[in-house]
Amino acid sequence: MTALGASIMVPEAIAAMAAIGPEFVEMDALFRKASQVIGRLTGGEAGFVTASCASGIALSIAGAMTRDNLLAVERLPDDTRSLHTEVLILAGHMVSYGAPVDQSIRLAGGTPVPVGTVSSAATYQLENAISERTAAALYVVSHHTVQYGMIPLKVFAAICRARDVPVIVDAASEYDLKGFLTQGADIVIYSGHKFLGGPTSGIVAGRKDLVRAAYHQNRGIGRGMKVGKESIAGVMAALEAWDVRDHAGIRARERAALDLWLTAMQGMTGITARMIPDPTDNPLDRLQVDVGPESGFSAASLASALAAGDPPIIVRNHEVERGHFFLDPCNLHPGEAEVVARQITHLLRSSNSSRFAETSAIRTSSAEAQWPD
Ligand SMILES: *Cc1c(COP(=O)(O)O)cnc(C)c1O
Repeated sequence: MTALGASIMVPEAIAAMAAIGPEFVEMDALFRKASQVIGRLTGGEAGFVTASCASGIALSIAGAMTRDNLLAVERLPDDTRSLHTEVLILAGHMVSYGAPVDQSIRLAGGTPVPVGTVSSAATYQLENAISERTAAALYVVSHHTVQYGMIPLKVFAAICRARDVPVIVDAASEYDLKGFLTQGADIVIYSGHKFLGGPTSGIVAGRKDLVRAAYHQNRGIGRGMKVGKESIAGVMAALEAWDVRDHAGIRARERAALDLWLTAMQGMTGITARMIPDPTDNPLDRLQVDVGPESGFSAASLASALAAGDPPIIVRNHEVERGHFFLDPCNLHPGEAEVVARQITHLLRSSNSSRFAETSAIRTSSAEAQWPD
C-alpha cells in the first residue's frame, strides 16, 4: 500500500491539517493533547505522533535503551557506552515491510538478537536469550510474519515482563487499537496512514515512562524523522473519526465489492476465487484469485495486465509465484468496485496467452534501481 500512497485520507484529517497549517502552535502543548487522544483510543498511559511507524519503532527502541538519560540520547546511535543494547526479536518476525524491520533496531544503535528459527520459537529460547545486555524485545504483528510456530504475544510479554524487559509491538497495519497493550505490550506502534486514514505518520502508545523516553529521542536520532504540526493534528482527527466510524457499514460495503467480484469471475475458465479472512484477524476479507494456465494468464501476468490497464488496477501480488493474488476491497471510492469487475472480466474474456508474457517484473526492484529514469 505504501507504493499507492498508503491509504486515502479521511476528510476529518484533511480539514484538521488545513486548519492548523497557517497557525503557530506550541508543539509541546499539541503533543500533550495528542497524548490524551492516543491514550483514550489505545488505553495507553501516554502516546505521541512520529513520522512513521518505522521511525516509531526506532525511537521506542532508542528510548528503551537510553530511558531518561539525555546525554545518552545525544550519543546515539553509535556511542552506546553504559547502555543495554540487545533487542530480542523472533526470527520469524524479521520481515521486510518495504525495509527490514531489524534495521529500525540498528538505526537506534541496538543490536537485533534473533530468537528461535524462522519457522519455530519456543519459550525456553526466549527466556535464555534475555541477559543483562537486553534493552527491549520487539514483537511484530503482521501478515508479513511467519503465521505458525511463533510465541503468542501474551506469552512473549509475560516472559519479558517477569524479567523487566520492555515489549515493543509493531502493529503498523492492525485495526485493534487496544488489544496489544491488553495482552501485555509496554509500547505499541501503529501507522497513522494505513487503516486510520490519517496523514503519513506513526503513533506510539503505552507505558508513560517508555513513551517519554521515546519522545526524548526527538532531541537526538528522531530529529531526522521530525513530524509536523499538520501531521499531529491530522492523526488526532483521524483517531477521533475512527472512534465514531460506521465500521459495520464499511464492512458491509467491502463485502458487497467482494461479492460483486466473486460473481464476475464465476465460470471464468482457469479462475478460482474465494474469500479469505485477514491473516492477523483484522475485521476484513479479501478475495484470493487463483489463476490457472487455462485462463491464458499466470497470476503474475494477469496482475501485470490489470496494472497496465486504464485505470490501473493494483492487486496484492506478494504471493503471485504461488499462482494467486488478492483483491482488496478497502478504501474504494463509489463505483470503483464495478470498474474492477469490468476490467477483470474484459481481460479474461479476451485472453490470449501470447499477449502477456510471463513476467515477475512487478515484483523486482529493477525499476526502482533506475529511479528517476
Ligand atoms: C507498514 C508497516 C511498517 C512501516 O510503517 P510506516 O508507517 O510506513 O513506517 C512497519 N511494520 C509493519 C508490520 C508494516 O506493515
